[in-house]
Amino acid sequence: MMAQYLALKAEAGDCLLFYRMGDFFELFFDDAKIASAVLDIALTARGEHEGEKIPMCGVPAHAAVGYLQRLIKAGHRVAIADQTESPAEAKKRGGSKALVARAIVRVVTAGTLTEEALLDARAANWCVAIGETAGGIAVAAADVSTGRFELVETDAGGLPAELARLGAAEVIAAEGGTVEEYATSIRPKSEFDSTAAEARLKRVYGVATLDGFGQLSRAGLAAAGGLVAYLEHTAKGALPFLRPPRVASAAQTMAIDAATRESLELTQTQTGQRKGSLLDSVDRTVTGAGARLLAGDIGAPLMDKATIDARLDLVQRLHDDGGLRESLRGTLRSLPDIGRALGRIAAGRGSPRDLGQLRDGLDGAWLLAERLFPFISPVRPEPVEGRDLGEVRETRSSTTPDQVRGRTDVKRPLLDQLVPRLQGHGALIDLYKRALVPMPPIDAADGGYIAEGYDSALDDLRDVGAGGRRAIAALEAEYRARTGATALKIRHNGVLGYHVEVPAKAADPLMAADSGFTHRQTLAGVVRFNAPELHELAMKVTQAGSHALAAEAAHLEDLTAAALDSREAIAATADALARLDVSAGLAERAAEGGWARPHLADHACFDIIGGRHPVVEDAVRRTGERFVANDCGLSESNRLWLVTGPNMGGKSTFLRQNALIAVLAQAGSYVPATSATLGLVDRLFSRVGASDNLARGRSTFMVEMVETAAILAQATPQSFVILDEVGRGTSTYDGLAIAWAVVEAIHEDNRCRCLFATHYHELTRLAERCDALTLHHVRAREWKGDLVLLHEVADGPADRSYGLAVARLAGLPPATIARAKAVLAKLEAGRAKTGGLAAGLDDLPLFAAAVEAEEDECDAIRAEVEALDVDALTPRDALDILYRLKTLA
Ligand code: ADP
Repeated sequence: MMAQYLALKAEAGDCLLFYRMGDFFELFFDDAKIASAVLDIALTARGEHEGEKIPMCGVPAHAAVGYLQRLIKAGHRVAIADQTESPAEAKKRGGSKALVARAIVRVVTAGTLTEEALLDARAANWCVAIGETAGGIAVAAADVSTGRFELVETDAGGLPAELARLGAAEVIAAEGGTVEEYATSIRPKSEFDSTAAEARLKRVYGVATLDGFGQLSRAGLAAAGGLVAYLEHTAKGALPFLRPPRVASAAQTMAIDAATRESLELTQTQTGQRKGSLLDSVDRTVTGAGARLLAGDIGAPLMDKATIDARLDLVQRLHDDGGLRESLRGTLRSLPDIGRALGRIAAGRGSPRDLGQLRDGLDGAWLLAERLFPFISPVRPEPVEGRDLGEVRETRSSTTPDQVRGRTDVKRPLLDQLVPRLQGHGALIDLYKRALVPMPPIDAADGGYIAEGYDSALDDLRDVGAGGRRAIAALEAEYRARTGATALKIRHNGVLGYHVEVPAKAADPLMAADSGFTHRQTLAGVVRFNAPELHELAMKVTQAGSHALAAEAAHLEDLTAAALDSREAIAATADALARLDVSAGLAERAAEGGWARPHLADHACFDIIGGRHPVVEDAVRRTGERFVANDCGLSESNRLWLVTGPNMGGKSTFLRQNALIAVLAQAGSYVPATSATLGLVDRLFSRVGASDNLARGRSTFMVEMVETAAILAQATPQSFVILDEVGRGTSTYDGLAIAWAVVEAIHEDNRCRCLFATHYHELTRLAERCDALTLHHVRAREWKGDLVLLHEVADGPADRSYGLAVARLAGLPPATIARAKAVLAKLEAGRAKTGGLAAGLDDLPLFAAAVEAEEDECDAIRAEVEALDVDALTPRDALDILYRLKTLA
């Protein structure tokens, strides 16, 4: 056994090995030590290996899922070695001492789960592969719990943003590539070979060419191939359900880098919670699939105006018609998650209950479509398949996956596209309605899921079984009468089958040689017997039972195959339901919060009237306060707002709410504002000055500068940038200088829309030299010695900083405040004399001119260095040249 174990363990590599022994999965050696610690279960020892006791622990097989969940959460991967034959088969094969054959049947990893218990119903579970070729980088992402498969072309710069968007459970990459640092597992390079990948994909999808999937780059092929190879590896050859890849390029969505995502808390807060995020505050979906789709939408706002407007049209319709919205949401709420049920079925881990979920979900979708038909425009599309009178037709009659996929004609309203996708499963629904009991069990092992009347042979077997059981019950009464043992019972267990049991003190009559009973077992207190009539009946019952189980299992297989036959169309229905849920949820949120439909303009404007921050607004409201709505107006000629004002005045909130409005608008949602008009944002950046991020424990100023550099390198005139106190992480002079230069560069070079909050009052002087920059401040007032923060954004610079007033508000002792006042007076007197912190800034040449002058100097130095004949120089000459260069630099 140890030899078999060690061979399997070698195959499992760095995974923990669950080794099946009877009713338990056992772990040995280091695996046992790790698992016992993580799972908090007893570590024992068994036998010896190389003179040492073997550490061991085990978990019951029937409860394995819970233990797996904890191990996966703790970052482990688990290989499951199951018995691939029964002990009886092993005996037949190799005699009584033969070892039961075992094999690794599955590798359980965080990114390849399908079990309901192991997954968050409201979040997608991505497994990501990074493909890399000389020409570029691509990311392939699969959620095997629903079969979603995405392929995105990107580059080294965009890769972190893509990974941040997906928030993958698992990332794999090829050994030796430049992207290894992002991977949670490294796989052999050969699995990422793009030529092999092409062949692999053709095989998986059973196609002769991949053209149908759109343009796939070599990197895209490598990523998809690597991913498929990995999924096959974890499923031990049986590839889980993968829909054809949806090929996208990063340019189709708003680029949002990891730092911006984190700072804006789009789908999770900086501490990793969903609660408190933008997603959490907008999410009113009523299904898991809807919640998953919404998270994807918020994480990837679109760049295509027509698609955004199509989404908005549907939201508007449901916003305006509260009755329709309510009934739609009511229906959706009751539907099972057919996407995930299908995922389990396709992974070979489906249960009768999953089929029941498909039946109920598809049936509900059908009825929903009937309800929605009156709302779709002029020509009512023919339902793709007749279903009246319970008529059974060929399941795949008229809806082929291609047709379903092809129906993304953006010119047609979204609802018109979605409704037909809700139908097309009539035959399957009818089949399942006839074949399955109303509430099929999760466990198929005991049968009982095939409905009566579906298969007359099965019904007969069940009748025989039931008749036999009745006869056995009758026999019990007869035996009692015959033996006089009133406590006599007929029982059943796995070892003896049906048998007669009497208390020991009543056993004598049955022990008599001519009693007709055969003694089987004596236990403390009871004695067990068999009898010929019972034996005969029991045989009948057991046989009928096992035949019935076999018949049910065969049906289960057929019913499963029927689902798999139309899996692409079922998945399309699941998608359509999710989209309806998202639209209705957004409409609900908009109605609830008094939100407005955003208008997408063709130029780079950003006009918001009465904008609000959805998360802060909720928080402020909970404390009984009022949230102050604020306007924002950016255009090509007034594209940079410099916002000053006291701490706690509402600057950050104002900046973020506008960034969030851009995200929501392009995700196809209403926005928290009275009105909103904006030009599409291609890249969104949000940076917060370092001192807010101290908890991150990196060199925060360095991080701030690296992230700011990324903006200067990447922001385009279509981008939207919010910078909050950038420059704060260093000394006053350095900070001011950096903030100054960054504002200038954004104004002159990037020319993007930008909101810049700062407490450097000196920056307001930039308004004089930057024509597209205007000054704004958050209002505050001192009233009877107290500071009142109005949270209102007004034109012009702040009149003063109110720092001491904020300090008092925060509870600094009066004596300290008084002392600070005295120090401030001294400082201000000094500043007045020298012209202040920004003294001399007025003499600075303009940004572009300054850059040019510097470049001229560099050119001069470069020319001189290039002209040098180093070999001909004496040490003395070299020293002279260095002295001269030093004066130039
Ligand atoms: P700053 O960036 O100026 O320091 P914040 O934006 O962090 O200020 O806001 C501080 C607090 O003020 C917020 O946590 C919130 O409670 C409140 N606040 C901000 N903006 C508003 C607003 N528009 N209306 C009401 N309260 C607000």
